[in-house]
Amino acid sequence: MHIWKKLTTNQIKEHVFSALQKNVDYNERTILGVPASHLDEKVFNRDMAFLNDAPFLSSMVYNPNHIGCHTMGESEAFFAGTQEIEKELIEIVAVDILKSKPHQCDGYVASGGTEANMQAMWIYRNYFIKEHKAKHHEIAILCSDDSHYSMPKAANILNIPLISAKVDDNTRVVDEVALQQQMNEAKRNEIKHVVVIANMMTTMFGSVDHLTTYTDVLKKLDIDYKVHVDGAYGGFVYPFSAENPDLLLDNPEITSVTLDAHKMVQAPFGTGIFIIRKGWMQYATTEEAQYVQGMDATVIGSRSGANAISIWMILMTYGPHGWFEKIHLLNYRTTWLCTKLDELGVDYYRHPASNLVTMRASFIPEDIAHKYGIVPDTHDGEAQWYKIVVMSHVTVDHLLPFIEDLQEALKS
Ligand SMILES: *Cc1c(COP(=O)(O)O)cnc(C)c1O
Repeated sequence: MHIWKKLTTNQIKEHVFSALQKNVDYNERTILGVPASHLDEKVFNRDMAFLNDAPFLSSMVYNPNHIGCHTMGESEAFFAGTQEIEKELIEIVAVDILKSKPHQCDGYVASGGTEANMQAMWIYRNYFIKEHKAKHHEIAILCSDDSHYSMPKAANILNIPLISAKVDDNTRVVDEVALQQQMNEAKRNEIKHVVVIANMMTTMFGSVDHLTTYTDVLKKLDIDYKVHVDGAYGGFVYPFSAENPDLLLDNPEITSVTLDAHKMVQAPFGTGIFIIRKGWMQYATTEEAQYVQGMDATVIGSRSGANAISIWMILMTYGPHGWFEKIHLLNYRTTWLCTKLDELGVDYYRHPASNLVTMRASFIPEDIAHKYGIVPDTHDGEAQWYKIVVMSHVTVDHLLPFIEDLQEALKS
């Protein structure tokens, strides 16, 4: 481990409060020029004694703005203290989780996986336009049928076509023969540059893509590409649970990665993480953002610094070994669930490194699905699949009644 290590509650508190002290204090100094302040004091009392023991809530009240990207160039000096924590967080994720070499990555805390994925596609689209004089219709996003809907959303906003690779219904693996045909056709339709999105655990199945399936086909057809990994779901799971995790930054084919802290890390919503190798953020710089010190290379603009602090606090509370144990406990429970489903003869998909189990809907009576809050693949028409996500609140004691009900139902 490079910098990620477990800290005590007191160490965490000291670190956050000392960072807040390095930010501007609107009460101590006269600040006339920024459209920002601490939270409204009539509503959010700053003097409550417990705030002194609550670094995250204090960060909310002081309300630092982390506009822009702080791992490169200049940033707003008013909030330099807490931006330092965000920089540290980005380096921990890049180096200690994603296996980058130290100081080789930029990144920021985005509003979520949707924005982080869009940031990647936006950067590569602009790169292909700027460096290869590409036209919009010559640049495609390539993902799979199991990819998240943020890919078609981004294709729509960025005004470039999307190609969705077929996956096998049982293995959830991309069909290489079909992909070959799809890309042949794309080439005939003048696609010259491709943004590949590789899944590190899909939302519905927890499946993980084989990157070479995409890159082999693209190399054979001599199509130029850049690779982004969507680890919104799996970024804080798969690198810890897989025997030999790939799709990390020690693979030179991969340029950027999305992770969501508001899923498995249980951070507040608004905590997507975008990581990219140095030298690429510039393709998203908006030169017109002249009033922002250091300008802005992010999709979002103003964003709360408290979000970055919350993720940093969680990671530091666990430390790398505590996090490893937490993920392995979830996987242990997932394996328990799969063993029970095997005994009942229920057909399901589970990637061995994943805490997600997706069962064929034909085995799951609707009333049981409803009773246990199990999520279908579609709310519009007939469900094909139902998934269980083994989170920290989903213990074997919670899973057992479901298995018993299911056993009863399958008997009759
Ligand atoms: C949840 C998810 C997203 C989108 O994340 P939001 O945080 O909801 O914007 C993208 N990709 C995958 C694989 C996801 O599971």
